[in-house]
Amino acid sequence: MADFKAEILQEEASPPHAAQCQRCELSKQRQRVIWGEGNPHAPVFILLDNPGLREDKEGNAFVCGTRETLQYGMREAGFDVNLVYVSYLLKCRPIRAYNKPLAREACFSHLQLQLEEKKPLLLFGLGNAVVQSLFPDQDADVKSFRGTWHTVQGISAAFSYHPLAVRRRPVLMKYFVADLKLVAGKINSLLSR
Ligand code: SF4
Repeated sequence: MADFKAEILQEEASPPHAAQCQRCELSKQRQRVIWGEGNPHAPVFILLDNPGLREDKEGNAFVCGTRETLQYGMREAGFDVNLVYVSYLLKCRPIRAYNKPLAREACFSHLQLQLEEKKPLLLFGLGNAVVQSLFPDQDADVKSFRGTWHTVQGISAAFSYHPLAVRRRPVLMKYFVADLKLVAGKINSLLSR
């Protein structure tokens, strides 16, 4: 992965109702609300927990380790990056400790609205925080959810490990790529009908 160069995906501007959101304490930590990035009309909606670092010290756009590992996995899986939009459970980047359950609850309606508006064909959720937020009444984790299809707001959804977990434990890369192939296969088949 050392020679892999990730693409800086175009960030989508936050809608006016969210740009000034003060619903949780992250409003005091953030630089801006990060609504999402990539193709805003993409058929696949990738959901992560929260935005990572977006700019380097000089303020230049920067691809954090999470998004770099995601794109690397996509390349390995033959998954076209133009088919995805990437967004987050939390639309503000935390920079210090915060109350996670309260923030996730506060931000959830932004995600619900976003999914209603975008109507993606597939959702691909990454990491336990995502699984547990979407299925709070189940004893859910990535290990038990990956490899099969689930439903979120009427959208077919698959799950995999968080890219940072994959980065820290390279042994997970083969599962991550297999999960990306599952999603790429399904979206290619849906789009070719
Ligand atoms: S994390 Fe979500 S709920 Fe909290 S301030 Fe940001 S946009 Fe609002």
